[in-house]
Amino acid sequence: MSQLNFIGNPRAIGYLKMIAQNQTPAQAYLFVGPAQIGKTTAAMWLAQALLCAQNNVSAPAQPSLLGATVGETAGSVEMGATGEPCGECLACRSVVLGSHPDFFRVETLEGKTQIAIEQVQNLKNSLALNPSWGKRRVVVLLGAEQLNQESGNCLLKTLEEPNGETIFIMVADDFKHILPTIISRCQVVRFFTVGKGSLVEWLTQSHGLANQDLAHELAGLSGGRPGKLLALLNSIEEQEGYRQAVRGWLTIFTGGLAENFKFLENIFGRQNFVASQKTTQEALEILSALLRDLFLAKMKVVGLINYRFLQSELETIARRISWRQIGALMRQLRQSKRHLLTSNANPRLILENLILTV
Ligand SMILES: [Zn+2]
Repeated sequence: MSQLNFIGNPRAIGYLKMIAQNQTPAQAYLFVGPAQIGKTTAAMWLAQALLCAQNNVSAPAQPSLLGATVGETAGSVEMGATGEPCGECLACRSVVLGSHPDFFRVETLEGKTQIAIEQVQNLKNSLALNPSWGKRRVVVLLGAEQLNQESGNCLLKTLEEPNGETIFIMVADDFKHILPTIISRCQVVRFFTVGKGSLVEWLTQSHGLANQDLAHELAGLSGGRPGKLLALLNSIEEQEGYRQAVRGWLTIFTGGLAENFKFLENIFGRQNFVASQKTTQEALEILSALLRDLFLAKMKVVGLINYRFLQSELETIARRISWRQIGALMRQLRQSKRHLLTSNANPRLILENLILTV
């Protein structure tokens, strides 16, 4: 069986397994949560479960020399008791390879910042035809927040005029910019960051990382995001780059106003709106983690510090920074995160406002 190798989010995963088992999915799902926590993995798993020959009775289980033949082998395949994808049938493998005729994956094209109307129009045209292999089709749409007014409205029409059984699984980092009329048609499945303890255990048990100090450090660096954690685990350069970035943001707590504004100028330079939104989101996460560490350093509970490689610097700053300043920064950070999620404010301005609080 193709197991869902997933860490954290037991409620969301339990729900998806229930959908797979019952095989009576809703028309549309919206997976929402921070980047790099496994939403795409979960969406692809569900797509496979809904199209697997074990569950989708008329889908071909085996490839033939002449290619797949509709309806063939259906009778010889047992219905999966759990509804989990087998990972081996033609349908399962074709979903992974992107060659399944009833599976559609839509995402922002390379070099673009939005999902174009043409992409959704093409999808709509394909969905107007009948399914090729089985009785249902699945659409995985990544970056639903990157639908613009035009492509969003086109998608809405597609949702409103279903032809046969088509299941939409949409994935987004947040609700902002998604048409409320689209959200209202979806079952929303929330995903959250994963606790450090679970991540350390995952690294040790599933990825054979014996070095506990490194496991703690990487789990701390990942900000609770398993995708980020795997990227860090698999690349020393990635680890170094991220440590460097965290060290950079720490200077916000030590630099003067002019120095800090210059630091932002260097980072944002000529970044466009979407890129600077991502940078700001990551910066706010790092700053929150740094502030939490500063709080712990001031409390002298250094054993719980996430960014252990910065322990001595954190202790030095903690001696200088007041409780009042920490409190003000925590409030400002919460406000900044809210602004980033709910308004169209210039992301860099959000960080500049934050800097004025330091
Ligand atoms: Zn299968």
